[in-house]
Amino acid sequence: MLDSEWAVAWVKAAAASVAEHKMELIELDRVIGDGDHGENLDRGFQAVLAKLETNFETPGEVFKLLAMTLMSVVGGAAGPLYGTAFLRAATAAGEASALNSDQLATVLAAARDGIVARGKAEPGDKTMVDAWTPAVEAADEAVENGLSPEEVLTAAAAAAEQGATDTEPLQARKGRASYLGERSIGHRDPGAQSTALILRCAASTARD
Ligand code: ADP
Ligand code: MG
Ligand code: MG
Repeated sequence: MLDSEWAVAWVKAAAASVAEHKMELIELDRVIGDGDHGENLDRGFQAVLAKLETNFETPGEVFKLLAMTLMSVVGGAAGPLYGTAFLRAATAAGEASALNSDQLATVLAAARDGIVARGKAEPGDKTMVDAWTPAVEAADEAVENGLSPEEVLTAAAAAAEQGATDTEPLQARKGRASYLGERSIGHRDPGAQSTALILRCAASTARD
C-alpha cells in the first residue's frame, strides 16, 4: 500500500541508494557538467533523513518535507527541479492516506510537469525530463491495463531506467551539459540517472 509508511521507507531507501551511487553520479556530472550532482543530492537526502522522525499521516506530507529540504539543501539546477517536482507531487497527492493507481499516475505526471515548468526542457534535451517522461507514460499505460499501484510504480521505474540509458546518444540542449555541444553526446545525463535511482527505490519499497 502506498501510504505514509511506504513514503518514509522510500525516502530512506532513496537516501541509501544516492549515497551508494554518489561516486557514479559525481563521475557522470564530471564528464558533462561540474561534478557536484552526487555530492549535492547526497547532502540533500541525508538532510531529509535527519528530519524523518516526525509522524506522517499521508504520503503527501512526506513528499512536501522532501521537496522543502531538497530545495533548500541541494542547490544547483537539481535542487529547485527536484524540489518543484516533489512539491507538485505533494499537492497532487493531497489528503489521500494511500495512493491508488490512478492517484499515483497523477502524482508522477505532476512531478514531471513541475520539472518542465521550472526548467523548460523538452523530451530529448538530455535532462532528467528524459527519465520522468517515459516513467509517466509507462504509468499511464499501466493504469489503463488495470495494474496495482505497486505494478504501476514498477513499470514507471523500469521506463525511467531505460530513459536514463537512452540519454547517452543525445546532445544536451539544457543545463550545464549544453555548453559542451556535441561533446555531450555519448554520456549519460546525471539527473536522468538519479531520477532512475529514486524511482527504482519507490518501486522496490512498494513491493516489500
Ligand atoms: P548543476 O548543473 O547546477 O551543477 P546538478 O549537477 O545538481 O546541477 O544537476 C544537473 C542535472 O540537472 C542535469 O544532469 C539535468 O538532468 C538536470 N537539469 C539541468 N538543467 C535542467 C533543465 N533546464 N530542465 C530539466 N533538468 C535539468
Ligand atoms: Mg552539477
Ligand atoms: Mg553545480
